[in-house]
Amino acid sequence: MGFSWWRMFNSKEKGNRQRVILHCDLNNFFASVAMKSDPELRGKYIAVCGNPSLRKGIVLAKSENAKRKGVKTGMPIWEAQKVCPEIIIVPTDYPAYESYSKKVQEIYYRFTNQVESFGIDECWLDVTHSQKMFGDGMQIAEKIRCAVKNELGLTVSVGVSFNKTYAKLGSDLAEPDAVVAITLENYQRLIYPLPLANLLFVGKKTQALLTKLNINTIGDLANCDVKILKSFLGINAEKLIAEARGEDGSEVSDYLHHELPRSVGNGTTLPFDLTCQKDVEAVVYLLSEKIAFRLREQKLQGYTIHLSVKDTGLQWCGAQTSLIYPTHTVLTIRRTAMKIFEQLWPQKPFRPIRAVRVAVGNLTTADHVQTNLLADVNDEIKNQALDSAFDKIRKKYGTQQIMLGGTAGSYQKLGFDLQLYDCDNVEQLTIDEN
Ligand SMILES: [Mg+2]
Repeated sequence: MGFSWWRMFNSKEKGNRQRVILHCDLNNFFASVAMKSDPELRGKYIAVCGNPSLRKGIVLAKSENAKRKGVKTGMPIWEAQKVCPEIIIVPTDYPAYESYSKKVQEIYYRFTNQVESFGIDECWLDVTHSQKMFGDGMQIAEKIRCAVKNELGLTVSVGVSFNKTYAKLGSDLAEPDAVVAITLENYQRLIYPLPLANLLFVGKKTQALLTKLNINTIGDLANCDVKILKSFLGINAEKLIAEARGEDGSEVSDYLHHELPRSVGNGTTLPFDLTCQKDVEAVVYLLSEKIAFRLREQKLQGYTIHLSVKDTGLQWCGAQTSLIYPTHTVLTIRRTAMKIFEQLWPQKPFRPIRAVRVAVGNLTTADHVQTNLLADVNDEIKNQALDSAFDKIRKKYGTQQIMLGGTAGSYQKLGFDLQLYDCDNVEQLTIDEN
C-alpha cells in the first residue's frame, strides 16, 4: 500500500510543513456506483452485499441514508433488514467500481502526477508544486470536488493538510461532498480531540496498551514523552508520536515510481463445497486467469506461486513453490498451482474445500527478465504468445468469449458468478499456514 513506516522515517521531508497534500475519499462508493448503474435506486435505502444466495451474505457497503438508519458494514443481511426494512440489497459490481475508480483518478492526475491510491476509493495527492497553476490546496480540492460531481455524478470528501496522516483525518472529518483543511493554526483544535483509533496504524493491541496508560486521544499521544512511551512500545513509540504531532514525512508516491507489490493474488469463497480435484481445478483456472491478466496489466512477473485452500472447518492450508524463471502466464500459474495442490491435499478421502486463493509473489518488472535457453523457458515463451493473443481477443470481445481448453465445462458447472477478491500483499508467503 506504499504507506510504510520505513519510508516515513527515512524520508528527507520529515517534518516538512510546507507541503500541500490532499486525501480524497469517495463517499459511499459502492452504493453510489450502484445508483449510477440503476438510477431507480437513487434516494432509496441500499446495501451492497455479496450475492445473498451465497455464503457471504453480509453488508459490504451502504448508502448514506441506510447508514443513518443504523446499517453497518459487516452486518449480516437479515440484521440490516431488521434495522431498515425498506433496504434494497444490491449485488457487487467490481468491474464498474474499477472503471469509476479509474475515471476519478484521471481527474486527480489533471492536478498532479503524485497520486497514490489507498484502496479502490481513496487517494492521496501531493499538490505542493501545482499551486502556481491551479490555486492553493483548498482551491484545488474544490476543483476536484466539483469535477468529480459534475463529470461523474459521484461525491468525494477531501482533506487538505501538510502531511498524509492529517489529510486523511481531514477527509474523515469532512461531510460527504465537502472539503476540510487541517492547517498549522487549527490542527490542535481539530485533530487532537479525535480518538486514537482514527490513526491508520494504531492496531487493537497498541490501542489497548495506550488506553491502559490513559492515552485516549491523538492529542494525548502527541503530548507524550517519547522516552517514556518508548519503554512501553519500543521503537514504534517514536513513529506513533510523530504521526500524532503531524510530523509524518512520508511522501505521496509518484505515478512513475510506485513500489512493486509483494504479491498479486486472487481468492474466492465458494457458495458450495468443492468435493473433488476437478472442481478445484476449475476454480484455480479462473483465479490464474485473473492473476495473469492483472500481472500483465502491471507489467509484472513473479517467481513464486502460492496456493492455499480453506477446508469446511475454516482452516487455511497453503504451500508455495518457486520457478527458475518468472511468469505472468495463465498456463504456468495454473499448472504450478495444481501441482502444489496435488501435493498439499490428500485425494482419498477428499476433504471438502470452501475457499481457494492463488498468488504470485517474488515479483519483478517484466522488462527485467533474462531470457534463458532451458526447455521450460521455451514453454513459457509459447505461453506468453498464447496469453497475449487471448488478451487481444478479450479486449475486443469481452472476457467470457475465450477460455483455455478444458475450462469452459468446469465454469458452467461452477457458475459464472463466483465473487473473486484481490488478495495482494495480505499474506506473508509462507510454506505452511497451519
Ligand atoms: Mg470512501
